[in-house]
Amino acid sequence: MTTQRRIRLAESEAMEGGVRCPKCGSYTSFGDIVAAGGCGGGEWRGGDCDASLSLDLVLENPE
Ligand SMILES: [Zn+2]
Repeated sequence: MTTQRRIRLAESEAMEGGVRCPKCGSYTSFGDIVAAGGCGGGEWRGGDCDASLSLDLVLENPE
């Protein structure tokens, strides 16, 4: 079973092309999330955060 938490980002949270990891608070760029699926404090960067992150782009008016 997969438990996900969806977070709608507001302009104030999307600072300089990234966000704070909701698990550890490390600044993580959108590029890192897309490329590595983890946060800037994750193992791939020498940290210990095990957050698994992904981004959805939502088109609100597809018709
Ligand atoms: Zn993190």
